[in-house]
Amino acid sequence: MKKGICPKCGAETVYSKNDGIKYSVMQGVVIVKTNTILNIPSSAISYVCTTCGYFENYITDKNKLSAVAKEWKKVG
Ligand SMILES: [Zn+2]
Repeated sequence: MKKGICPKCGAETVYSKNDGIKYSVMQGVVIVKTNTILNIPSSAISYVCTTCGYFENYITDKNKLSAVAKEWKKVG
């Protein structure tokens, strides 16, 4: 999705915005749950496909990503 192609419908109509989800979708903040201490708002970059509506969010806070790697269950 970061290359501009939607992984769901294949359209090349992907848009991104820094902290997009914060202002346009949730009207709040992105909260990534790691543990009770680190449940603080995180900066994120959002990508939206305007053909099918699929969207992805990428956390940009490196410390938060490190915390997730420690606390969350790995997929696969
Ligand atoms: Zn799409």
